[in-house]
Amino acid sequence: MASEFDIIRKYFTREAPTAALGVGDDCALLQPGPGMLLAVSTDMLTAGSHFFPDAEPGKLGHKALAVNLSDLAAMGAGPRWATLAIALPEADEKWIAAFAQGFFQLAGRCKTELIGGDTTRGPLAISVTVMGEVPAELALRRDAACAGDDIWLSGATGEAALALAHLKGRVKLEGAALEACLTRLHTPEPRVDLGERLRGLARSAIDVSDGLLADLGHVLEASGIGAELLWDNLPRAKAIAECADAALARECLLAGGDDYELVFTAPTSKRTEIEALGKDLEVPLAHIGVAVSGEPVVRLRDGRGKLVSSLRKGFDHFA
Ligand code: ADP
Ligand code: MG
Repeated sequence: MASEFDIIRKYFTREAPTAALGVGDDCALLQPGPGMLLAVSTDMLTAGSHFFPDAEPGKLGHKALAVNLSDLAAMGAGPRWATLAIALPEADEKWIAAFAQGFFQLAGRCKTELIGGDTTRGPLAISVTVMGEVPAELALRRDAACAGDDIWLSGATGEAALALAHLKGRVKLEGAALEACLTRLHTPEPRVDLGERLRGLARSAIDVSDGLLADLGHVLEASGIGAELLWDNLPRAKAIAECADAALARECLLAGGDDYELVFTAPTSKRTEIEALGKDLEVPLAHIGVAVSGEPVVRLRDGRGKLVSSLRKGFDHFA
């Protein structure tokens, strides 16, 4: 049976050309570019809570990195390096090879070098730490939104949560809708290019991992402002718009989570540039509302100004 060291050498040791030292020593050695701040983020995925224990390993490898790259994007940081801590119940080499392939395929596309980690035996759990770079004064912090800013959303929310509802038997999806939702759930595409290109355009940003309203709520709380969103302006993916269970679709849209889209605020003077950026990257960017002074509350209104929903407190993993 393969030892811990065989596994590391065979599956997790790759060239890391921009690191001073990669996998193999007690530490990796890294030199950020001149004038750049290191942006560092960790996300952990555990079997049962974040994925089904029989999840496809290739997709898991992709997702473990994707959810972390999404955090870098939300900071306006460009990815550079990653570490991977993984607990495996057994040394199933077929599983590990597929996991590594999913991980490295996304890493290669997003120019992220794996420079270290830890490999142990235990109930399946995966923790990735990513490191990226951002010029100090251009980081997209949560506390930098201003009253009067436009609020923007990339792509559309809700499909990943709808896929989960399908897998749990709460709704029955079929055909292209099912396909689209499952792809969103298992292989989310982090908005890496968008995050970097929003430097100097957006004032603040967050990635939507726990639901649109909850994550926007974090920005509002950190910035000490509120938000008015227009219900009609929220982008709807086809599967959400055509979902037979309208209440479920609405819940997924507003509070589903696992979307990995970016919500960002920007001065109104940047509208034209932001629209041009969306066209250039072929990423739909929707102007969904405005930041307002006052309590950190999200108010969602219909076309006639009537309150559809209002949210004060975000999603809590321990609630
Ligand atoms: P140590 O005992 O010093 O923690 P390890 O034996 O755990 O060292 O790891 C040896 C080398 O392999 C280190 O450079 C470590 O960063 C790297 N490594 C271990 N597991 C992984 C992994 N899953 N992915 C990438 N690198 C790993
Ligand atoms: Mg170790």
